[in-house]
Amino acid sequence: MKILTVVGARPQFIKAATISRQVEADPKVEEVIVHTGQHFDDNMSDVFFREMQIPKPKHNMDVNALGHGAMTGRMLEGIEKLILAEKPDVVLVYGDTNSTLAGALAARKLNIPLAHVEAGLRSFNMRMPEEINRILTDRISDFLYCPTDTAVNNLGQEGFSEFDSEIIRTGDVMYDAALFYANRSEEMSSELSNVPFEKYALATLHRAENTDDPKKLEQLVNGLNRIHQDLPIVLPLHPRTKKKLSEFGLELEVHLLDPVGYFDMVELLKKCSLVITDSGGLQKEAYFFKNPCITLRDQTEWVELVDFGYNVLAPANANEIYQTYLAMTQKTFNFDRDLYGKGNAAERILAHLKDSVKSE
Ligand code: UDP
Repeated sequence: MKILTVVGARPQFIKAATISRQVEADPKVEEVIVHTGQHFDDNMSDVFFREMQIPKPKHNMDVNALGHGAMTGRMLEGIEKLILAEKPDVVLVYGDTNSTLAGALAARKLNIPLAHVEAGLRSFNMRMPEEINRILTDRISDFLYCPTDTAVNNLGQEGFSEFDSEIIRTGDVMYDAALFYANRSEEMSSELSNVPFEKYALATLHRAENTDDPKKLEQLVNGLNRIHQDLPIVLPLHPRTKKKLSEFGLELEVHLLDPVGYFDMVELLKKCSLVITDSGGLQKEAYFFKNPCITLRDQTEWVELVDFGYNVLAPANANEIYQTYLAMTQKTFNFDRDLYGKGNAAERILAHLKDSVKSE
């Protein structure tokens, strides 16, 4: 079986590494990796290929720094050509970025079986570009690999049982990654993860819905700065946020780092006592590493964490963010629920593909 995998953004490199590792060990499967170039800096892209030992992409498309239309369009055109040249048996896409949607559209229109990892997630906020990418990709996929029961239910509610696609609850590949790299991170991490605090919160901030609106970003910055006076905040700064802060003349007075590799991230997660983020992946990693989480958004696609109280949503309001922080520090948590599977999602996905996809 020949798989053509499309990746382009940081979380996709981490997710794709889990299945690539399974493929490497299986002589019956070949994988061709296409990197769209959506993220391209060393610390947003190359570091993950090095650290996670993912085979180098065979094709680098170098599409980045464009608006949604131009970016998705160029990716679509490029991926279509690559699919025609590579003739894969199946195309594999991850998550919810423009690279995901472009890969999905290219495969579907060429009638190549399409598999979506992280299917069925919904924030129910159509103003998020990620939500549009998720919904459209799910609708045209043949194999919908769902990380959670909620994801399976979302697809059910949208009538997917009537469609000609297969829904499989596999567990979450991010949990596979967390387990695998947690064993190696102490040895492999760098000085960056040695922060000068006994106790700290780990934060990230990069969603367009937060960074692109100056009023919202100001509230978020003020909220984080206020918490930092009580509990130090360590924040690896996403390039988009860095750009917007300087554009709007705002200053984050917390312990800033450049974006870090995954080993450093895992070490920071192990040692922190709270996560504050607008990232999708980090909300779950907070849970995997037994930390409560404040999510700087109005909705989340990882609703089970909110339902069980591990995660609290805080809108872009400095005072509400600070009050949420105070409330979170009063609570105790038990992190022993099986919400994201057994850490063998990648293995299950590959086994299902081998059973379901006809090879030429
Ligand atoms: N991450 C990382 N280094 C950083 C920031 C994040 O390795 O400096 C990891 C993080 O642990 C998570 C993934 O990148 O596994 C999340 O990516 P991001 O927040 O960009 O995307 P999202 O999950 O929101 O789609």
